[in-house]
Amino acid sequence: AAFEYIFNVEHEANSAGVRDMLDITYITNESFLGDFGMGGIHFKFGGYITSSKVFAESLYSERDIDWINGAHVNKVEAGKVSYELLDGSEGEKEFDFAMLIPPFSGVGLKVFAKDGSDITDTVIAPNGFMKVDADYTPKPYEEWKASDWPNTLQNPTYKNMFAVGIAFAPPHIISKPMSSPNGTPINPTPPRTGMPAAMMGKAVAQSIVDMINGASEPTHTANMSEMGAACVASAGKGLTSGTAAAMTVYPIIPDFEKYPGTGRDLNGTSGELGLAAHWVKHILHHLFIWKAKLRPGWTLIPE
Ligand SMILES: Cc1cc2nc3c(=O)[nH]c(=O)nc-3n(C[C@H](O)[C@H](O)[C@H](O)COP(=O)(O)OP(=O)(O)OC[C@H]3O[C@@H](n4cnc5c(N)ncnc54)[C@H](O)[C@@H]3O)c2cc1C
Repeated sequence: AAFEYIFNVEHEANSAGVRDMLDITYITNESFLGDFGMGGIHFKFGGYITSSKVFAESLYSERDIDWINGAHVNKVEAGKVSYELLDGSEGEKEFDFAMLIPPFSGVGLKVFAKDGSDITDTVIAPNGFMKVDADYTPKPYEEWKASDWPNTLQNPTYKNMFAVGIAFAPPHIISKPMSSPNGTPINPTPPRTGMPAAMMGKAVAQSIVDMINGASEPTHTANMSEMGAACVASAGKGLTSGTAAAMTVYPIIPDFEKYPGTGRDLNGTSGELGLAAHWVKHILHHLFIWKAKLRPGWTLIPE
């Protein structure tokens, strides 16, 4: 979302002929540009295997957008943002216009049992998301496994409760965890974009149907370490002047046991930037609204 926002602002300023009057800066908690909350990606691009860091840095340079990475924004005042960097230093940036994405968290639901007792801690993790069948055992980064990620998205205590998409509590982040010497964690959150969110929703809906019809356990799974995702991120709107970054990643959660080296299958992981991807995004926009309205043929439209 941040990527799309900043590149669309840049694109609109360009179209309006005022781009040379703007300095645009991207401030991110990613330890490197192109981490995308997924620890970065390696993909085939123009016949080479390249990293999302090179991909992102060249795009930002081409559009003359500065970046400050590994930054934890700790204060926003009128016209000024303050941040702490991974090396522990502090910085400030003045602005006329800014957009801040708040930290990812749940909506703060309170959960009560039939007898009125507060069971929030049993159902909801401290970050506000619902606990599901993930492995939440705290362990160091070196011991994280693809199998930590949930399969059925069912709450382990209350079998009639499920959480999909943004709502479920991930077992841990995906990127390598980082903190400043002052102890401030500075990390991007795992992305749970539209496609995996919808695939989880579909699997859980099918499990619920089967459970209503007598199954004792969920019958369908949607594990982010076994599914791929496609994401088309707009980098500027316009039928002839638009651009978008089309990315596919398989699997979303890197599996270094199955795919030693990059953790992902290079045949299912790709990245491309251009006008065609903008058209794809435009078409998908209409298709997904069609699907959401359950218009004729909606079941044929994939997630
Ligand atoms: C600006 C932006 C751009 C994005 N671009 C892309 C993109 O290009 N491609 C992509 O794949 N993904 C994109 N995403 C991510 C995508 O939108 C999400 O992954 C997806 O919407 C998650 O679906 P969800 O059902 O889990 O959550 P949501 O879509 O957030 O749905 C949660 C719903 O719960 C409702 N709700 C909250 N609290 C309560 C309550 N107490 N009671 C009842 N209802 C409640 C909310 O109103 C909301 O409708 C983007 C996200 C943003 C913010």
